[in-house]
Amino acid sequence: AMFEPHMNADATEQLELQNDLRRALEHNELTLHYQPKIDATRQLITGVEALLRWRHPVRGMVSPAIFIALAERFGLINRLGSWVIDEACRQIRAWEDQGLRMPVAVNLSVHQLREQGLAQRIEQALQRHGVAPSQLLCEITESVAMEDFQEAQRSFAELAAIGVYLSIDDFGTGYSSLNYLRQLPVQQLKIDGSFVRDLDKGDNARAVVQAVISLAHALGLRVVGEGVETPAQRDILLAMGCDELQGYLYARAMAAEELLDWAQGRQARGSVAFSPSLFGEP
Ligand code: C2E
Ligand code: MG
Ligand code: MG
Repeated sequence: AMFEPHMNADATEQLELQNDLRRALEHNELTLHYQPKIDATRQLITGVEALLRWRHPVRGMVSPAIFIALAERFGLINRLGSWVIDEACRQIRAWEDQGLRMPVAVNLSVHQLREQGLAQRIEQALQRHGVAPSQLLCEITESVAMEDFQEAQRSFAELAAIGVYLSIDDFGTGYSSLNYLRQLPVQQLKIDGSFVRDLDKGDNARAVVQAVISLAHALGLRVVGEGVETPAQRDILLAMGCDELQGYLYARAMAAEELLDWAQGRQARGSVAFSPSLFGEP
């Protein structure tokens, strides 16, 4: 059961949650769950996205849709974000020690981008865990990237300089200038789930998604379809040339240990496999 936004109406409750969140950071109540991304034509796992989870002692699982906004409002997002970066690097290292070179994506908030020294902090986390920068992908929401373009361009350039990959998240929900998009050093573009959801309803979502995929390919970007839930959505995205798919059709976000079991189960049934390139030297 998830604690949802509409259950979070009043301010006292927000203050309470905010205090709980401070405590959560100190008491290991946060975890990362991982959702696979699939190269659907080749049926291979290409990497995972790390999604933050908070197991509240009383409320149970609290949705990041609630506590990320809360953390941003109460100045906790940078601590939370640093924890996510460190934990993701720790997990990349742990997988690598098991012989699996799994690329991991983390989500960065606008406050993290504005923070001085973000790139150095990421670089330090990579070094601390002995992780190559190319193993880490940073997802930045389209609206954030376009809100203050000069600022975004500066922070994207700093991140690109340390060698991490960059992705534009929730594409289609903001107001991108194509000229701006072209100037950002990104490798990936993720089509927001709201467009994917409407694909099999036969309205103009199809035209939008097809245009986005063509545009992204023209700019040399890989395209990920988010929130893929049905075989029909998968088939339409594949026919349009979408490179990777992510969504409940394949898997929900899950704990790191579960992910290996899930992949092995799928592999045994021949439905998806780890890409051979994910197996590096242990
Ligand atoms: P996002 O980065 O766009 O992540 C995708 C969200 O869609 C995740 O929700 C995921 O569980 C959900 N999802 C995946 N497949 C499906 C599907 O087939 N159907 C539907 N209906 N949903 C699907 P989640 O984990 O609740 O995260 C929500 C948002 O919270 C994320 O959106 C991201 O913006 C933010 N978030 C999560 N973790 C972090 C974090 O560590 N840092 C920051 N700054 N934001 C985070
Ligand atoms: Mg994301
Ligand atoms: Mg998204």
